[in-house]
Amino acid sequence: MLSAIACAALVGGCSQAISGTPTTFGSYSTTDVAGLPVTDGPSGPRAGVPDAELPVEGSDGGEMDRLARNAVADVSAYWAEVFPDAFGTEFQPVKRLASYDSGGAGIRLCGESTAGLANAFYCPSEDVIAWDRAELLPMLDNSFGPMAVVAVLAHEMGHAVQHRAGTATGNDPVIVLEQQADCFTGAFFRHVAEGSSEHFEVSTGPGLNQVMGVLNYIRDAPGDSGFTGANAHGSAFDRVTAFQYGFSEGPKRCAAMDVADVKQRTTQFQFWKDGQDSDLPVDAATLAAVEESLRAVFRDTGAEPPEIVTERTSCGGVPTTSPASYCPDTNTVSLDVAELQRIAQPPTTNAESSGYGDFAAYAQVASRYALSVQHAAGLSLDDEQAGLRTACLVGSWSGLLIEDPIGQRNPVGTLRVAPGDVDEGVAALLGEDSLIAADLSGDQVPTGFARVEAFRIGFQEGISPCTTKYGG
Ligand SMILES: [Zn+2]
Repeated sequence: MLSAIACAALVGGCSQAISGTPTTFGSYSTTDVAGLPVTDGPSGPRAGVPDAELPVEGSDGGEMDRLARNAVADVSAYWAEVFPDAFGTEFQPVKRLASYDSGGAGIRLCGESTAGLANAFYCPSEDVIAWDRAELLPMLDNSFGPMAVVAVLAHEMGHAVQHRAGTATGNDPVIVLEQQADCFTGAFFRHVAEGSSEHFEVSTGPGLNQVMGVLNYIRDAPGDSGFTGANAHGSAFDRVTAFQYGFSEGPKRCAAMDVADVKQRTTQFQFWKDGQDSDLPVDAATLAAVEESLRAVFRDTGAEPPEIVTERTSCGGVPTTSPASYCPDTNTVSLDVAELQRIAQPPTTNAESSGYGDFAAYAQVASRYALSVQHAAGLSLDDEQAGLRTACLVGSWSGLLIEDPIGQRNPVGTLRVAPGDVDEGVAALLGEDSLIAADLSGDQVPTGFARVEAFRIGFQEGISPCTTKYGG
């Protein structure tokens, strides 16, 4: 949740340095996903492929175990193929696979009972991957589709890979282990997206959006959320980032994730200070604070700040977008406050009326403000490059509102965001109805992968790469 801090000394008292750290991603494209073509074809189990024949202890022979077994088989086949090149030795398959019913009496695995354990996990002491076929897997399948189950098993296999490759030590914080496992999951999903998985296929458009959206629900070691906490998994933003690194750069990038790398990159350790976590309603005071923060963040671009008005205004032939519109001719951002208030509602299970949270609402305002910055720079406003630049600029605004911005930058203005706010932005970016990565007409960049990547680059590196990497 977003909040305003009371310390007036921070207003205008901070210099703004834009980090010029080169990105590892190279050039950016709107027409592919990390080098693969954008596709919106089928995602899920392939029809007509014989089932894998891996032994699974305790299986009831049902649909969930069939799905899980095929998933483990394909993930194992992937690692058998790439492990020698990545880590210099042959890949040893996991010794045991176990299915259980969390509602039943439970079985003993690694010294613990599975009774009541709606989870999936890898346990190194017995080299076993186990899953709850009765509650967890059906829940994931019903809520997110079968590829969510594949993602969970790829993540657990990622822990087995970690154990075999020696890429993490027993002293590493859990967030490092989790970041690596999410990264290994991304590496496997590239293999699926390339069409190389025997039992599954995934589109690089909606298919990957769904898989990235489910990452935050994979909690194989639930617990506290601090960076040093024993069970920190990272924020949704951190988890999607790790997945994208694996997808784009492969297993060696995952192996390079150590404490220093993770600490430099993640939002999870940016502790939320006490007394700052009040929800901000969509009202005149908050909108003024948002406007002040946008002016501060983009001041150094030299762009004339747009006027922000709370009534809808027409703009010649430019379509009106909701919940905010930008009019280049008058340099005006007009807001639909009622719609912003709807989006600012916390997420609920009722998808029809559900919002994304307060930050997601203000990020849409920021997206139209970002169009004014691009307009002043003479950049195109109505194409996919504009959509990506917009996401990147919204990311750079967000990255300067955290208490300890990445890259030794100073926070700007009086608004502050928490990791949970950034997660709201990521959820909106992966959804189908947001302006954060949309152009002047409100058309979103087709792939969520590219939207989140652009947002992250701005968040981590500031404004500069938004124009240099996305078509200046
Ligand atoms: Zn894990």
